[in-house]
Amino acid sequence: MQTLFRCFLLFAVVGYFTASSCSSQLKKDYVSQVAPIIPADLPTEYATTKGKSPCNDRMNYVPDPEFLDHTPEKKIRVNVHFMLSEKVKNNFDETDGYQFARQILYECNKYLKNNLKMSLPVGNNTPQLPLRYSYALDVDPSTPDGYATYFHRDDELYHMNGTKSKDRNHGSRKVFEKYGKNKGEALNIFMMEPHLDSLTSPTFTVTGRGIAFGNWIKLTAVYQNTRDTTINERGAKLINGRYAQQRTLNHEIGHCLGMAHSWRRDGCDDTPEHANCWGLTGKPPCDGKAISNNMMDYIPVAQSVTPCQIGTAHWTMSNKKRKIRGCLKKTWCTFKKDKTIEIKQDHEWNGAKDIEGHLVVMDGATLTLRCRLSLPKRAKIIVYPKGKLILDGATLENDCGENWEGIEAWSYGNDTGEVVYFNSPTINNARNKITVL
Ligand SMILES: [Zn+2]
Repeated sequence: MQTLFRCFLLFAVVGYFTASSCSSQLKKDYVSQVAPIIPADLPTEYATTKGKSPCNDRMNYVPDPEFLDHTPEKKIRVNVHFMLSEKVKNNFDETDGYQFARQILYECNKYLKNNLKMSLPVGNNTPQLPLRYSYALDVDPSTPDGYATYFHRDDELYHMNGTKSKDRNHGSRKVFEKYGKNKGEALNIFMMEPHLDSLTSPTFTVTGRGIAFGNWIKLTAVYQNTRDTTINERGAKLINGRYAQQRTLNHEIGHCLGMAHSWRRDGCDDTPEHANCWGLTGKPPCDGKAISNNMMDYIPVAQSVTPCQIGTAHWTMSNKKRKIRGCLKKTWCTFKKDKTIEIKQDHEWNGAKDIEGHLVVMDGATLTLRCRLSLPKRAKIIVYPKGKLILDGATLENDCGENWEGIEAWSYGNDTGEVVYFNSPTINNARNKITVL
């Protein structure tokens, strides 16, 4: 009796892991074959997904606030280049640039972390979800402060002239071709400035702008806009607030993440079309009750990102064909036991995911996988004796050129974790090979 009680206690406290010492033994076997699902067991709603992939629907990448661990955080590696004139200090240089690069990225991440409630449409109840992505300045031991911040003196390439200039060069790729670092593996940010001749012209207005090229960005006038208040010849203030330029940087990186301008049709139902007013003037079309605060509008405070926009970002980052994916820290290539995801109730994963630990389908739960799922080396999928895993056309893999362990089905008494498939799944790189029958 005492033995039985102890056995039960152990079982209750630490679950299956110690239960093997009891009389009814827990068995753990790698699955070597997966059988097709019996048609009668196929839930009727599954028929609707046949023939069209849910993996391309950005809404399937919106983080679920109740299960945030199902959307692992992504980190975008960045480096920063300050483009300087050869003789004049027209931009941050070695005296203040290292600190500024770290500061602006810190401020950008702060905006991302503090996602504001949407101001439009007035009276909306659009959820404020965490973005689950941020930027990390690359390290580079060869620079004085150890971070990937660079200074280039080049009279040909320091300036960026906007669309209205007769010398417009905003679309030129030259600066990236000449000075880009870790191309394809880190997002290169070029801090450019207006031409020095423009700054002395009384008709010129300093305007912060940017342009995104998939995995690199040009910004202009960050230095002009963040210096202490300056007044031009016509008495107009050139300052928008120190570090306020995180608005432009977050906006441009938003483009790299697949987001479009949100004042017009952008493929998202939760970003209303509007007149993109900088302020309320009382005159049409800027006579509404509020101006936008969305990151993808041209507005003073751009600190709101909607669920659909966040979904767009994760959809883009999960897509191996998109350039920005190459700039992500490969967080999914290092196994972290504490990032194990436990599935305790029924879930359908309709978007691609890169997870960082084991995936455990617990008793009473069914997990349906429909898209690409990458697991790190040493990670496995565990299906508890009363758990069920359905592979509905999914691709299981290790996206690091390595392997992952495989699927382990646990048995206890008469129960064995169930793994079934339909719609031809693909299983790659499993160390314990799995054949789809
Ligand atoms: Zn834009």
